[in-house]
Amino acid sequence: MPELPEVEHAARCLRAWALSGRILAVETDPRAERIFRPGSGAALARALAGRRVASVRRLGKHLLLELAGGGPLGLLSHLGMTGKWVRRLPGEPPPSHVRASLVLEGGAVLHYRDPRLFGRLRVVPGARFELLPELGALGPDPIAAGIDPVRLAALLGRTRRPVKVALLDQRILPGVGNIHASEACFRARIDPRRRADRLSPGEVARLARGVRATFDRALSALGAGEEIAYVEEGGENPFLVYARAGERCPRCRRAAIRRIVQAQRSTYFCPACAAGAARPAASASASRARASASRG
Ligand SMILES: [Zn+2]
Repeated sequence: MPELPEVEHAARCLRAWALSGRILAVETDPRAERIFRPGSGAALARALAGRRVASVRRLGKHLLLELAGGGPLGLLSHLGMTGKWVRRLPGEPPPSHVRASLVLEGGAVLHYRDPRLFGRLRVVPGARFELLPELGALGPDPIAAGIDPVRLAALLGRTRRPVKVALLDQRILPGVGNIHASEACFRARIDPRRRADRLSPGEVARLARGVRATFDRALSALGAGEEIAYVEEGGENPFLVYARAGERCPRCRRAAIRRIVQAQRSTYFCPACAAGAARPAASASASRARASASRG
């Protein structure tokens, strides 16, 4: 499933393929109207034809394209669960499940493919992205702006949800999805079932580093290649714990990775690492208790 690294990869691809290229024509799939809500495929095609892609930005899991050649116009692209931008050169057959095709000057075609139709393609009048409620609510981008551990601690401190579930809230660290929430907890040696408001400042700082590390790892694995296969599509699994239930933990080698369900989503973690991380605090309080018992 696309999370921040895959969307960043898409942004880089779109810049390489489309910057300053003119869009000659646009075709949309009439069976995929839900992708174009609240507009329509026909309105999107009319708005984009004749424009040039002036810039491609990313905020969390959203792609923000500004289009030149007329008044200011924006295009918001969210990849949903299975969305992907792919390019086909003249003469190459299109991929399956294409929902929108942008024919560029020179004949290359940018296809938005999305088998499950959870993605979005939305024209943004005036390129006023900041007026869209789904963007206005997002926190600062964890890669572009970095992760402030003090802000992260304040936001996690306000929720009693399990830390892994809290991390999926795009107001906190936009771009973290189900995969990287598990990965970040594992890297930070934090039990994903812990209450978010019970983490110590040191644990929150570890979590911030864990998020950054799992993103960096995924971004470097994506490289400069063009088409990527998501794990769910049978692509290689580059993750430490995600989708690895039953495999031996790559860190402690003592336990098997477990899959549990939190808020209807799969969570993967190592029970030995999670218990081990909690142990120092527990044994410290136990020794304090023993000390006070011997004094009394
Ligand atoms: Zn382990």
